[in-house]
Amino acid sequence: MNKSIRLGVTSVNEFNCKRRTMLQVLYAQQEIKIPFTPNKFVYAGNFLHLILQRVFLRNFSNVEFFYHRKSKNIKDAILLSMEIELDSIKKIWMNNTGPWKYHRQEFSNSFDIITSQLHNLALMAESLVTINNNEITSLVIQDEFTVINRINHNFQIRGKIDLVAFSETGGLRIIEYKTGTPKLEDENQIKIYGEILYSSFPDQQINLELWYSKPKFDQIQKIDQKTIGGLLQEISNLYEKSQQLNNIKKLPEQDFTSKVCQFCKLCDFIDLLEFDT
Ligand code: SF4
Repeated sequence: MNKSIRLGVTSVNEFNCKRRTMLQVLYAQQEIKIPFTPNKFVYAGNFLHLILQRVFLRNFSNVEFFYHRKSKNIKDAILLSMEIELDSIKKIWMNNTGPWKYHRQEFSNSFDIITSQLHNLALMAESLVTINNNEITSLVIQDEFTVINRINHNFQIRGKIDLVAFSETGGLRIIEYKTGTPKLEDENQIKIYGEILYSSFPDQQINLELWYSKPKFDQIQKIDQKTIGGLLQEISNLYEKSQQLNNIKKLPEQDFTSKVCQFCKLCDFIDLLEFDT
């Protein structure tokens, strides 16, 4: 019987390369761990996540303070609050003396990325606040909201949504923020979340948004609900195909010729599979 596996949505959202999903399944099945070294972009995404979490969920009183006492301008109040959180995160991570201390240069580079994106992020984040009779309220409900889909009894995919917020027009906003340039995988990622959520909460109005804060790309990309669907089936098909390969322990050469891509190194480890290649 095939081993039961669980994969993250970001491991199966690259449909330009179907081999990637199949390799992820096969590696997981054979318990092969692919080494992964986080770089400045990964750290930037993680730190940005922390900043938003702290500003809108933990320390929203800072935004209120800056709005009422200093600026009366919501974007500036958010930006000042984000800068405070960035400074505090910088202090913690740049003084880190644990095993992460060797990543200081990457941390420092990631803080440069964040600093260049904070202004755009604050502009977009204005939409996470509502003002009523001079009272300001955060519309954010939760961060890191986990969604799970059981593709079949042996295979589960799961993801963590960056932010869930109330929409001022009713319903919920599902937000994924990205520090890089727009990519097809980003769209696939949020569409997979949408597919899972629409089937779990059919009566709920759910709006999907991708946020890009990189200079020149600052924008909130809204995903049209009509374009959602079919990706879970596609993942299921790739899973089935990988199971056939797993059973015969042979990789067809035309599908699995090594080709190393910019951010994905999965093909580099193909020799570790107990397969006749
Ligand atoms: S290295 Fe390139 S070809 Fe190989 S799985 Fe990754 S994206 Fe696909």
